[in-house]
Amino acid sequence: MFEKRTWIRLPRNVVVGHGVLGQTIEAVSELHLTGRPLVVSSPTPHDVAGKRVVEQFEDEGYDPSEIVIDEASFDAVQQVIDHASEIDAGFLLGVGGGKAIDITKMAADDLGLGFVSVPTAASHDGIVSGRGSVPEGDTRHSVAAEPPLAVIADTEVLAEAPWRLTTAGCADIISNYTAVRDWQLAHRLKNVHYSEYAGALSQMTAEMLVESADSIKQGLEESSWIVVKALVSSGVAMSIADSSRPASGAEHLFSHQLDRLVPDGALHGHQVGVGSIMTEYLHSGQKGKWKDARDALAAIGAPTTADELGIDDETVIEALTTAHQIRDRYTVLGDGMSEEAAIEAATVTGVI
Ligand SMILES: [Zn+2]
Repeated sequence: MFEKRTWIRLPRNVVVGHGVLGQTIEAVSELHLTGRPLVVSSPTPHDVAGKRVVEQFEDEGYDPSEIVIDEASFDAVQQVIDHASEIDAGFLLGVGGGKAIDITKMAADDLGLGFVSVPTAASHDGIVSGRGSVPEGDTRHSVAAEPPLAVIADTEVLAEAPWRLTTAGCADIISNYTAVRDWQLAHRLKNVHYSEYAGALSQMTAEMLVESADSIKQGLEESSWIVVKALVSSGVAMSIADSSRPASGAEHLFSHQLDRLVPDGALHGHQVGVGSIMTEYLHSGQKGKWKDARDALAAIGAPTTADELGIDDETVIEALTTAHQIRDRYTVLGDGMSEEAAIEAATVTGVI
């Protein structure tokens, strides 16, 4: 019997452009969401977008409620769940750079409610994907959650975010190259399911971003447009694969390990970018494409060295040699790198 199945859950309305925050009600009412909206944000996103979203709902007679959370934690997720139950929320909107959105999607999943993603920074692909992650103690929990029903990405708001958040989003996309290579490797060696469609889409997304590098400049609103479109496309690849594999390989393991070793280290995207220079070297050797990865990152002004990340060399080596332990995800790191090999890879690529 033919048993193959595919189940793809995608955002239904993706609204990207200048001033689209003003179209929140339209995007939401098309989804037939009913009941009280609960807007979840953190302090800065509340100021730049959250309160405007709340006002729009008030003007339309929706009786919205808002909760402003301070930190990404399971406590915050629980706070949102409790608040939503208390006010009998009908649906949730996450307004933020990533933290608030991750928390909203996890709470929405738990509550069985729909949620809408309103990113205020184009800093990573979590703004679109169905995956959420929050730190807990010295580890990081990544959980599957529903993807947003709609994404409302106002480039006017995104362009106002600190520039380093945008370059971090770019670097997260550039790391798709190595993520896909790791996925293909895992497919060949461990028979991990590989989706040609998701793999190709993820790679193409990275290619398009690299080709647009000239238009990605501070102060240029178009930059936010290019980056957020790439983040959406990357999120779609993950939805198609029903896995974060298309956008998360060894470079992500490396970054998660850095997060454990230096909790207030560098931005997620910047760490995975530097990680992907080294894992590209591990895939393709000294004459391989690691220079392309490095040059692409340098072109948009993202870090390419440990120094630029503000992380010391020893920590980079420790993260490289222990990253394979983070989770059960087969990558080019195999069952772990020796210290000598890690030093070699980091030195040849100029990371340390
Ligand atoms: Zn990422």
